[in-house]
Amino acid sequence: MTARPSQSAEDYLERIHELIEEKGYARAVDIAHSLKVRQASVTAMAQRLAKDGYLKYEKYRGILLTAKGREVARHIQQRHATLGHFFTLLGIDPATQHQDIEGIEHHLSHETVELIADLAAFLENNPATLNKFRASRRSAASDKI
Ligand code: ZN
Repeated sequence: MTARPSQSAEDYLERIHELIEEKGYARAVDIAHSLKVRQASVTAMAQRLAKDGYLKYEKYRGILLTAKGREVARHIQQRHATLGHFFTLLGIDPATQHQDIEGIEHHLSHETVELIADLAAFLENNPATLNKFRASRRSAASDKI
């Protein structure tokens, strides 16, 4: 496997993939808007990602992912889903989850994500353990009052 894209490059690939899934295309203006960056930054990053073979420009369709870009984007999406699954098991609400996952996901190693996936599967297969943990948190919280 080739070198992993940088963390901010991952942010872009993830968002481009989401926009394409949502609307069928990704324009620089939409990417800039949803990542809260300047359009010039999008252009610079898109040029770099195009040079590295993750995406290409088409005159009327905007930014498209190459097969390589899609593969990376799908991997990023999967990792996001793994973390979401784990956080859902722990009872974290969707809005907090989304914000937290966006904040940490690009910094986690493959090993850590795998560990989290395994832990989620373990808790799912051992609901009594998960409930025990939840109950202990609840009682710890009520002790504080
Ligand atoms: Zn994400």
